[in-house]
Amino acid sequence: MTIDLRSDTVTKPTQAMQKVMWSAEVGDDVFGEDPTVNRLEKLAAEMFGTEAGLFCPSGTMTNQIAIRVQTQPQDEIICDWRSHIYNYEGGGIAANSLCSVKLVDAPRGIMTSELVEDHVRAEDIHHPSTRLVAVENTVNKGGGSCYPLEELQALRSLCDAHKLVYHLDGARLFNALVAKQQSPEIYGPLFDTISICLSKGLGAPVGSVLLGAQDTITRARRVRKVFGGGMRQAGYLAAAGIYALENHMDRLDEDHQRARALGNTLEECSWVHEVLAVDTNIVIAILEDPHTPTQALEDLKKKGILGVPFGKKEIRFVTHLDFSDEDLRKTQKALVELY
Ligand SMILES: *Cc1c(COP(=O)(O)O)cnc(C)c1O
Repeated sequence: MTIDLRSDTVTKPTQAMQKVMWSAEVGDDVFGEDPTVNRLEKLAAEMFGTEAGLFCPSGTMTNQIAIRVQTQPQDEIICDWRSHIYNYEGGGIAANSLCSVKLVDAPRGIMTSELVEDHVRAEDIHHPSTRLVAVENTVNKGGGSCYPLEELQALRSLCDAHKLVYHLDGARLFNALVAKQQSPEIYGPLFDTISICLSKGLGAPVGSVLLGAQDTITRARRVRKVFGGGMRQAGYLAAAGIYALENHMDRLDEDHQRARALGNTLEECSWVHEVLAVDTNIVIAILEDPHTPTQALEDLKKKGILGVPFGKKEIRFVTHLDFSDEDLRKTQKALVELY
């Protein structure tokens, strides 16, 4: 049996989750008539202390809609260079919103208000207009690093001072909440929009929710339709999301513990140069010369372990709901015996 650590998106719905999915009450959500979708949107909004929520097929869509409804063409977005919105959404910021991007280089992707302020443009006809600051928590390419709450608050103040929109890509926000022991309701009031993914660590098969003020979400609903994200009996999927929110959050700590154990093992491997500190469920190892990500991952695959290349010298492993203690032991053995 292959142990798949390429991403926390690879999980399959548990039996209990499948059961609630198939017994979900559904309707046509484009008409606003799917009671389960409505329940999920309300539940997520209440959880994070926002007025409204919008269920979407992917986190890429929730991010792109948030950017689209809160910018004008020729505006500029500030984010860290590691950001998903910049690297992994197919250039969507340019295609969907006609905006440019100003990249920050912050240690492990955790931006500070000082770093961001350096990138805010003065009002000048030559410049794009700085409009939106996007943070990611946890930072995927930062190795699952998390923001301290004080920094998120300082960034809110900066956005207020410069009249900027503040968006959170919270694809793995639940991992941050558990790691930092924060409660979700502090997040809603901090941000203009938040994107959360149900299909990452929470283990739902599909779905993300965009959270924000009612008028923002009303506009977002129109854009979702234009992007082709208006789904019909989506309640089957929303039911999985509700189940995930209610049952799969607290267990994320297990994923973090297993990720730390993997990190410790990797530190001992002769073929690994360095392991980024493991804060949540993502483990990034920088390989020792002359090893390459392609070769190392190919050799690991022969031992039944999958990871992904994550830069010139980096490989990434992500722990998740379908990765057990027994899988951990097998993986540790394979890593140690690789070379
Ligand atoms: C996975 C992910 C997303 C959304 O990805 P989808 O595959 O489109 O759901 C957004 N941001 C980050 C940081 C992610 O890791």
